[in-house]
Amino acid sequence: MPVHNSVLDEVQYQVKCYLARHGAALDCACQRCQEDVVALAASQLPTRYSTSPKGRVLIGVELQSKQVQLDILQAILSAIETVNQSPRHDPSRRIVG
Ligand SMILES: [Zn+2]
Repeated sequence: MPVHNSVLDEVQYQVKCYLARHGAALDCACQRCQEDVVALAASQLPTRYSTSPKGRVLIGVELQSKQVQLDILQAILSAIETVNQSPRHDPSRRIVG
């Protein structure tokens, strides 16, 4: 069974939810900028790997705790700020406006 990074999954999900509600928070919504937010946020958080379905469930429960959710949100907010300041952009993005 492949090693699984549960934190990355959770960050990906949270970034998607956050941008769905606060799309204006990120200056640019191209693929690259969104992926950079995920990567930056995930790299600020302690990584939790699991190698079994049971381990994945346990980490999943842990990730739902209020403190962890707060840490994830904070990491996402700071990642958005970083990307806004120095966006790298998807080279194939369509320039709008
Ligand atoms: Zn961009």
